[in-house]
Amino acid sequence: MIIAVDGPTASGKGTIARALAAHFGVPHLDTGLLYRAVGRQVALNHGDPDNAADALAATAFPDSLLADPVLRSEATGALASRVSVHPEVRAALLARQRDFADQPGGAVLDGRDIATVIAPHADAKLYITASVAARALRRFLEMRKRGEDVRREAIEADLAARDARDSTRSAAPLRRDEGAALLDTSALTPEAAIAAAIALVRKQSQS
Ligand code: C5P
Repeated sequence: MIIAVDGPTASGKGTIARALAAHFGVPHLDTGLLYRAVGRQVALNHGDPDNAADALAATAFPDSLLADPVLRSEATGALASRVSVHPEVRAALLARQRDFADQPGGAVLDGRDIATVIAPHADAKLYITASVAARALRRFLEMRKRGEDVRREAIEADLAARDARDSTRSAAPLRRDEGAALLDTSALTPEAAIAAAIALVRKQSQS
């Protein structure tokens, strides 16, 4: 079974995708990590993330980079959002994601364009969302727990900017696929969101 999970930053899609993978016994790919690795590699190369050639060169990042905790930082997330606008970068990462989706037994992939571009043939499609305020609060609490000195307003502004960039870019913009079930996690605990996601996947894969 192939499950596509899309949605904006901090919507809960990563937590939900991991839980779905464990529940249905299939492997999981966090595709945002691939774009984060490209963003990080551009910085390591002293390249310009807004330059298509520099960003494309960075898609040759070593696999070991995927395990680097720096990929989880807000700074790398912002770089990922900038390199991901280039169609050349998206094309370079396509085969890797599609091969993962099409492996025997299926998979769960989470990202921005899984249902629309990577796996339009997925058996189940979810679009996870939450209000900017709810997402900013989650990010803020996460970062404070890690001991980072952050302001909630700054996080909210950064999320809104990232949403705008991801939704308005011409190459594979973030949007809900017509076949995707909508799940708003603003008022849900992680447990409730996971239970709702499992029920939606069951319903879709049976129909
Ligand atoms: O989901 P995450 O915050 O890790 O993604 C980082 C950035 O990578 C996003 O802001 C988005 O611009 C980009 N991305 C994308 N397509 C995906 C996954 C992530 O464009 N499938």
